[in-house]
Amino acid sequence: MKIICIGRNYSDHAKEMNSPIPEEPLFFMKPDTALFRETNFYYPEFTSDLHHEVELVVKISKVGKHISVKNAPNYYSAIGLGIDFTARDLQKQCKAQGLPWEKAKAFDNSAVISQQFISKEELDLGNINFSLSKNNTTIQSGNSADMLFHIDELISHVSKFVTLKTGDLIYTGTPEGVGPVQIGDELSGYLNGNLMFSVKIK
Ligand code: ZN
Repeated sequence: MKIICIGRNYSDHAKEMNSPIPEEPLFFMKPDTALFRETNFYYPEFTSDLHHEVELVVKISKVGKHISVKNAPNYYSAIGLGIDFTARDLQKQCKAQGLPWEKAKAFDNSAVISQQFISKEELDLGNINFSLSKNNTTIQSGNSADMLFHIDELISHVSKFVTLKTGDLIYTGTPEGVGPVQIGDELSGYLNGNLMFSVKIK
């Protein structure tokens, strides 16, 4: 399986990064070794500015290529929640030098994923609330209504370039409020008020 991540899909986050609003979905990938479903996350030694980005995650349920926006709903059935962990210091260096982002984004355990996925029939896809708390204080909250490109558009766009396969995950972008985590922090993710994961930074 592969992990596809969407960048700058919420205008408030693009603003806080001083990045332009994209005209088409921007995506990058993480390898399957990035998946993290455990509790204890060990702060990587290569960064001193690890940031959280909480994101809704779409699980692909059918193989497809060149999927139209109209047909996209046939290619996923459930939504989960994750964190796109980012070594912000390395990402800044990569961006400044025009280099790829893998060092900053694709490292081991950088894709926190909830065990549970919620069937899309149980959700109003245009109105999913999600949030991240750090040590019991909410630090990021978003709603799917604020996505610049909604899920069906993301699937259609990505599948023009990359064949989607069953089990692939699409991280749909983070709302504003990204920031650093420290050893000792506990991060908890919520979808429509339900606890989806808890991660302790060690
Ligand atoms: Zn992200």
